[in-house]
Amino acid sequence: MIVSKFGGSSLADAGQFRKVRDIIHADRSRRYVVPSAPGKRYGADIKVTDMLYGCYDTAVKHGDYVAEFSHIKSRYDEIIRDLGLSLSLEADYTQIIADFAAGKGVDYAASRGEYLNGKILAAFLGYDFIDPAECVFFTFDGTVDAKLTQATLGARLSQTSAAVIPGFYGALPGGVVKTFSRGGSDFTGSIVAMACKAELYENWTDVPGFLVADPRIVENPAVIDVITYQELRELSYMGATVLHESAIFPVREARIPIQIKNTNDPEAKGTLIVPATE
Ligand code: ASP
Repeated sequence: MIVSKFGGSSLADAGQFRKVRDIIHADRSRRYVVPSAPGKRYGADIKVTDMLYGCYDTAVKHGDYVAEFSHIKSRYDEIIRDLGLSLSLEADYTQIIADFAAGKGVDYAASRGEYLNGKILAAFLGYDFIDPAECVFFTFDGTVDAKLTQATLGARLSQTSAAVIPGFYGALPGGVVKTFSRGGSDFTGSIVAMACKAELYENWTDVPGFLVADPRIVENPAVIDVITYQELRELSYMGATVLHESAIFPVREARIPIQIKNTNDPEAKGTLIVPATE
């Protein structure tokens, strides 16, 4: 069983969604999929998560946030239309607009990026949709309640053979939505991999993997094929930003390897992160 997480640029538009579908269909073990919110389609584009933060800020300041939200809606509706899906997210949009007016919180606002994208991806793949607000739990001090999450998420996953679980958020005791820090969908993927005891955690992104040198300094550095968790920690202190640092801990503890892959070049080997090399 493989858990596959896809970053924002891997799901930025319908063309990227099709690449993701082809990747998922190429291996039947890819049963649990963790998406980010739609990222940038081109250099000057704005990530949906940033649009949501801006929109919620406008709502808090009593500005015309509904007009601002229409741009977010358009991003999703364009993907739905271009994929030819019959899905409608209108009821969700109405709910979100009402929740913004009710001041449901900035974390809730940001989390809708992954929530809506997850719904589209689930419909496109024909997979179940699992809302992490119901199975990824935080404690009041803001850290993940690992025990409760493993038990609840593990049980939920065992009831379905194929599901999409949006990244980046969960819930506090009482159900208030809380997000991880930016880039935190990597962490969700790692938690899902641990909960279902996956053989592999795939992290699909828009880079070839970890490089042997900084490409801003060295021209065309080679991709590292295999690296240990320990070595990776040393690398991340050097400023490598391929993977969210916290994403390492759950899978490392469960001794599940992480495979970094490029959605735009799926045949390329990427980088495999392993507990230890013999
Ligand atoms: N969408 C969130 C962000 O932009 C989380 C993620 O992509 O992992 O930070």
